[in-house]
Amino acid sequence: MSNISFINWDLPEHILDAIVAKGWEQPTEIQREAIPSARLGRDIIGQARTGSGKTAAFGIPILEKTQPTGNPQSIVLCPTRELATQVCNELEWIQGDKGLIILPVYGGTDIEKQAKKLDSGVDVIVGTPGRVIDMTKRKHLNLEGISVLCLDEADRMLDMGFWPDISWIFSNMSNRNQTLLFSATFPQEIIDSTDEFLNNPVTVMSDDLEVEVPEIEQKWIKIGRANKLWGLGRILINMDNSDQCLIFCNTKRMVELLEDRLGKHRFSCATLHGDMSQNKREKVMSGFRDGENKTLIATDVAA
Ligand code: AMP
Repeated sequence: MSNISFINWDLPEHILDAIVAKGWEQPTEIQREAIPSARLGRDIIGQARTGSGKTAAFGIPILEKTQPTGNPQSIVLCPTRELATQVCNELEWIQGDKGLIILPVYGGTDIEKQAKKLDSGVDVIVGTPGRVIDMTKRKHLNLEGISVLCLDEADRMLDMGFWPDISWIFSNMSNRNQTLLFSATFPQEIIDSTDEFLNNPVTVMSDDLEVEVPEIEQKWIKIGRANKLWGLGRILINMDNSDQCLIFCNTKRMVELLEDRLGKHRFSCATLHGDMSQNKREKVMSGFRDGENKTLIATDVAA
């Protein structure tokens, strides 16, 4: 464990104050590896998963470099609306009182409203590739003016078929002078197709699985496949009235199957997966946040 603390980095006051107020003391491994080079303007290839602190690893250098001019200077591309929202929220508090306008740009939301916001001045865009292209083609967004491009969860964007869109975005950013590429895995296709767009990148890796949150006690239960439903039922029965439970499944089909099976045992559950409309997804999420739904079964869109 290194003893480097955020204070050693001579970060801008607005960022340091925000981080200190949040109680962060030391950078995570990926932050320690990526932030110093990214602050110097180097391109980065970062291997890191959700939970490693990767958002701040690209967020801090981006927020330091971007100025509140009302012209987009940095863009973060994400595979899902949920991740875009999460990244936006994190960037929003990390910037402290710098006053940057950070806008999420993703599909499933009112396009006219979003266009108006873009027209009225934005400094950082966090968006999904399709909507970003849409806004560029409609001339509400000028990619030529943007100097920093960050790809968050590049492997998921590849899996979701966004690669042609990403290539389009790359080729329409002729004034890009820094690229930050973060991914949990690096399939050959990502390496091959980003090679021409990266300039002598620094490669950084993180083995950190998750930032440790001391208030969270983690347990695992070894159970045969046939007994999983029974095991889950035991956990749900033992929950206190005030407890909530979030169950992650790999597929939408599994979410529905589990809802049905648990429903038959009179456990009422809310569900969340990528095929639901944005509106519905937000309703379910806010129902869960407010404690209205005790149990939520979700694919990793909820993560
Ligand atoms: P991420 O991988 O960016 O989604 O971050 C995972 C979680 O760790 C988020 O809740 C962050 O706010 C938190 N986090 C990130 N960096 C640090 C840090 N250096 N110290 C404490 N918490 C952190």
